[in-house]
Amino acid sequence: ATPMAVMVGTGLGAMNGILFKNAAALENATKLTVVVFDKTGTLTVGQPDVVDLVSAPGTDTSTLLATAAAVEKFSEHPLALAILKKSADLPVEHTVAFTNIDGQGARAELAGDTVLLGNRLLMESHGVDLAGLSQEAARLQGAGRTVVHVARAGRLLGLIAIADAVRPSSRDTIQALHKRGVKVAMLTGDNQATADRIGQELGIDIVLADVLPGQKADKIRELQSQGHKVAMVGDGINDAPALTQADVGFAIGAGTDVAMESAQVVLMKSDPFDVVGAIELSRATLRKMH
Ligand code: ADP
Ligand code: MG
Repeated sequence: ATPMAVMVGTGLGAMNGILFKNAAALENATKLTVVVFDKTGTLTVGQPDVVDLVSAPGTDTSTLLATAAAVEKFSEHPLALAILKKSADLPVEHTVAFTNIDGQGARAELAGDTVLLGNRLLMESHGVDLAGLSQEAARLQGAGRTVVHVARAGRLLGLIAIADAVRPSSRDTIQALHKRGVKVAMLTGDNQATADRIGQELGIDIVLADVLPGQKADKIRELQSQGHKVAMVGDGINDAPALTQADVGFAIGAGTDVAMESAQVVLMKSDPFDVVGAIELSRATLRKMH
């Protein structure tokens, strides 16, 4: 585009809370064939709440919750914040040796026992038997809940079901992208069943679930190697490499600084629908070039 058109385009964007950091981003936005959204904090509000507690035989829900909180008090994960909020009235025991297990959960030592908490893969890789509760977990995930499994000394104490509301404009955003001939994907570290349910609710074409933080950029590269021009929209530290890899990276303004530094466009209103606005604006700017 001409320098004048780019100036007008980026200026109009800025007035609407869509900050293009450079002219290349504005030009690349005209060519996008797929937009990849992070799930948590991007398509969803990112303020999850505990909605269900299922304790294993021999354990009660207060013990389940208090044990989980004893580990999560050291974590900054959104799921940890949900568990801490729910357990605010409970006495929480002292734990040591907290370790974050990237993309799977966390662990700590409580009175000489290892407490392990996170997704099903984490339990399986540590030989925790899910026997009685795996059907219950599947039911909760089928309803769009994220299930946190809690185990102490190798024994499952129960499940904590967590829900995160989708942003009000997420559905319309996906419809508007489809109308403009753009495909939509969702990328998440959450499990396949939960992701599929939310994907279905929102009309998403491609659901990429169980993706470890280190693999997010690879998924973008795969789409590019299939000939796609790819946008990534994300908010988290773990989205940063994917935002950099994408042809255009969009950061949610309420997200982390790292995401905003890695993206070429910042959505100041934290509204996913502004991706549609950005594409419209870029197309209008490009037309002025001819
Ligand atoms: P996302 O892509 O949704 O931000 P993450 O990569 O942070 O997901 O985590 C992937 C999955 O690992 C979560 O859905 C959850 O099941 C589990 N997990 C990670 N950290 C924690 C934690 N602190 N507490 C409970 N579960 C966790
Ligand atoms: Mg996120």
